[in-house]
This record gives sequence, C-alpha cells and structure tokens, in this order.
Amino acid sequence: MIASEAEKGGEGLPVVVIGAGPTGLAAAAHLAERGLDFVVLEAGDSAGSAIGQWGHVRLFSPWRYNTDAAARRLLEPTGWKLPDADTLPTGADLVRDYLVPLAQVPALAGRVRTGQRVIAVTRLGLDVTRSIGRETRPLLVRAAGPDGAVTDIAARAVIDASGTWGRTNPLGHSGLPAPGEDQAAPHLTGPLPDVLGRDRDRFAGRHTLVVGMGHSAAGTLLALAELAKTEPGTRVTWTVRGTSVARLYGGGDADGLPARGAIGTRLKAAVESGRIELIRGFTITRLDAPGTGAESGPVQVVGRTPDGELAVAADVVVAATGFRPDLDMLREIRVDLDRATEAPARLAPLIDPNFHSCGTVPPHGERELAHPEPGFYMAGMKSYGRAPTFLMATGYEQVRSIVAALAGDREAADDVQLDLPETGVCSSDLLTEDLLPGDTGQDAGCGTSCGTEPAATPTVQADSTVGGCCGGPAPEPISIGVGAPDGGLGFATGVVHGYSGDAERGDA
Ligand SMILES: Cc1cc2nc3c(=O)[nH]c(=O)nc-3n(C[C@H](O)[C@H](O)[C@H](O)COP(=O)(O)OP(=O)(O)OC[C@H]3O[C@@H](n4cnc5c(N)ncnc54)[C@H](O)[C@@H]3O)c2cc1C
Repeated sequence: MIASEAEKGGEGLPVVVIGAGPTGLAAAAHLAERGLDFVVLEAGDSAGSAIGQWGHVRLFSPWRYNTDAAARRLLEPTGWKLPDADTLPTGADLVRDYLVPLAQVPALAGRVRTGQRVIAVTRLGLDVTRSIGRETRPLLVRAAGPDGAVTDIAARAVIDASGTWGRTNPLGHSGLPAPGEDQAAPHLTGPLPDVLGRDRDRFAGRHTLVVGMGHSAAGTLLALAELAKTEPGTRVTWTVRGTSVARLYGGGDADGLPARGAIGTRLKAAVESGRIELIRGFTITRLDAPGTGAESGPVQVVGRTPDGELAVAADVVVAATGFRPDLDMLREIRVDLDRATEAPARLAPLIDPNFHSCGTVPPHGERELAHPEPGFYMAGMKSYGRAPTFLMATGYEQVRSIVAALAGDREAADDVQLDLPETGVCSSDLLTEDLLPGDTGQDAGCGTSCGTEPAATPTVQADSTVGGCCGGPAPEPISIGVGAPDGGLGFATGVVHGYSGDAERGDA
C-alpha cells in the first residue's frame, strides 16, 4: 500500500517489520498468530541475511534457546522439527534450518519482501518537528529496492528489527575513526572473517592484527591460531585497550553457557603458549597505510601504550570493535534514546554495559521499548544500541510483548518473563591472574563474558542488587535465577557488573 492510500490514524494499515533476522521473523510470527496485517522488509536477498555473513561462526547458545515459541507453532505443522536441542548451530545452520523455513511458512510467505532496504521512517505528511495532529497520522516507511526504486509504505506501527550488523565501531579511540583509518580500508576486514574457509588466502602466511575484546575477536583469534598450525609464516597479534583480558577469558567451566566458557579457556591457552601475541594497554592513535592496495605492504598501526608509542606492522587488521545502530533512518520520528547506549531510554538502565552483562538483564517488554512516537519500536539487537550483550531469546520476548500490545492485549504485553538459569561467575581470580605486572587489581571485581572494549570510565557504583560480588571476600558463583528453557524465554550469558567489573579504567 502506498502512502496516498493511507487512511487517517493508521486503521487498516499493516504493521511494518524492518529486517528478517530472528527478531523480525519472530515479530512476524506473533503478528500472524494475532491475526494482524503485516509486511517484513529485508535489505538482503534472503531471510537471515546478516547472520549469513557470519555463517561460519558457531553460536554459543544451543538450539533450545534459539527459536521463538510462536515461530515453532507455525513451523511444526509444516513438518519442521527443532534440531537437537543441545546442539550448537552455526550461523549458517540457524539460517538454513530455522529462518529460511520460517520465512516460507504459509502465514509469512508473500509478506517477507527481500531486497528492500529501509532508508527512512517518518509520520505521513509530518516531519519530526510537527506536533499537531501527529497521533492521527499513520507512520510511513520508505524502502529502496536493488534498482534504487523507492517504495513508501504507510503503517499503523513499525517494529525496527534491523540489527546492528554492518555498522562496526571504528578502530580509533574515543568513538572516532583513527586518522588514516579510511585510507587503510584495503587492509581492514569486517569483524568476523571466515579465516579457515572463504577468506583463508587473505590470512595464510601473513601477519594479522586483531583489535577488540569481545567474542568476535576471540573467535577470529582462535581461527587464526588454528591456521598458523598449517600455514607457515602466519602470525597473530591481538591488541586491547585495557590492561586485563579477564573479562574475555571468562568463567571457563563455570560459565552458564559451556561453549562460551570454553572459548575463553582456549584463548587463554593460545596466548600463554605464544601462538597469539597479546599487547595490552594499546590505544590506536593512527594508521599509516603504505600506499594504494592491500598488496603494497603492511599497514602501520600506531598506538599509545603505557611504555610509549608503538607501531605494529600488519598485513591485515580485523576490527572486532563492536557495533552501533543505524539511527540515520530514524531522524524524522521522535525516538527517545539513552545518550550513552543509544538504546530506548527506559530499557537503557537495564542493559547499560557499564554495569550489566547479559545475564543480569531483567525482563522487559513493550513498555520499556516504547518511544514518544506512538507505534514505533526498536527490537532485537538494535534495541540494545551499543550494548553488546543482546541475546535472541531476549528479542523473542520483546516482540511477543510488543505484538500483544498492538493487538490490545495489555495483560499479555505486561506479562514479560525472562527466566534466567543458574549461571555466572564472579571471581576476583579472573582478574588477578591476568593483570599486568605492577597492577594491583584494586577496584577490580567481576569478569564479564560478553562485550567489546570498555566504553567509558564508570562514574557510578555498580548496582548492589545484582550480585554484590565486587570487593567480596572470595570468588563465588552467583545464582541469578532459574531458567525455563522449554519456554524459550531467556537465559543468562554473562556475569554481573559489565564494564564496571573490568580492571582497566583507561581510554574508551
Ligand atoms: C557472531 C555472533 C554470534 C552470536 N551468537 C549468539 C548466540 O549464540 N546466542 C544468541 O542468543 N545471540 C547471539 N548473537 C547475538 C544476536 O542474537 C544475533 O546478532 C542476532 O542475529 C540478532 O538478531 P536480530 O534479528 O536482532 O538482528 P539481525 O540478525 O542482524 O537481523 C537484522 C536483519 O535486518 C536486515 N536489515 C538491516 N538493515 C536493514 C534495513 N535498513 N532495511 C531492511 N532490512 C535491514 C539485515 O539484513 C538482517 O537480515 C550473536 C551475534 C553475533 C554477531
């Protein structure tokens, strides 16, 4: 339906869902179950297009946590069966065995439009400055097709589930690109190259610098270490801004998600064996590209360290620096975003990575996700803004609640549940065993196992209600809830306190 056909107030118009990832398709499944009209606009050429780009990566959450309940109810009559609940799928498995079949169920097929990139959301006939009569007008979504042709769709509501993949944080400090970062582009890769597969030739026999403190960095580092075993001349350097990588080494065997705990353990072993050279306290200040093209010689990655300036010559630089949401397309609607996280303002305090890991995110739904612009919601990965701790299970509960509200079922919308299994490790040992010589570990408290580089120096004490481990007398596993995996509602993935648990207090 084009804008000119729109009726006043959005009555009779579809809900537009932006993005056919796990969250967007779950929203579609709930909309279908509730009998609400909807259309899903997906920029890529198939459902799960963003995940397809990291299809070689194995998830750390098993199948039992990765599907939405309404989606399963639509899939099961087609003969679909949940893959082994305890198996860890790769991204490609998730797309092939869940998202693509889901997009094809009768209730969704024909409503998922691929090759449609949303470029703007606005209020029909009103720019963001106009207040009078705003609530009587439908929303308007503008999408561009592969040929550049623009389509305007009037909507009664919009659920923006477009994720954050594709918008990586820069390599430079303070949230800005380092001088020379643009010119060094031929030497840079995305956050999750397929080191042992598609992109192997780019890394074999070469020196790679990996920048970042999240699980994307960890996965790439481990793949590079593996490559180095069979490809002579392959070298791996890992730089982090802080002085401790304990957060990434994580809780090992005590991690609530064993696969994730194992990654940290293996990474630690690879660093200790010398297969990965770790440079801590490294803040990138500029990149000196050698000339044109990646074949013209290594790029010099220059950084500040506690011992002075250091230049690392690298053939390839993997920027595993985390993601940020695309807010440009939301300029003409009234969104209320937290200034720090760029998450919806009411959700932000619940997920602030300075103080929370994903394991400490409380239940939340439509009320926390609402904006001053009626009918507009951010959901899924994008709803967490720059916070790195999002989980699919959280997104499924978000869209269940949003759709219930759109259907007028306030009771169901407010009945949000995010049951967390017993998990998490809060241990000062995680830090003290990994401090630089001379560091005391004072103020250090908790490791977290999600996230990227610390974003800011905390100015507020951590919420004492979420665990109270920092400064505690002894390392101690923390119980943060009891899970209900069969309900698919959520699970813990980290440990308390987020960035505030890091030893480092350095640059962001
Ligand atoms: C490497 C990696 C591993 C992860 N592992 C786990 C895990 O084990 N367990 C877990 O729970 N979570 C995990 N996550 C976190 C998160 O659950 C996933 O990123 C998940 O894909 C988020 O789902 P989403 O639907 O919100 O966003 P996405 O999967 O990113 O989907 C967004 C969709 O929107 C489309 N899109 C983007 N912009 C536009 C636009 N302007 N217009 C139209 N369409 C657009 C994209 O093409 C994409 O298909 C992982 C994340 C990463 C990066």
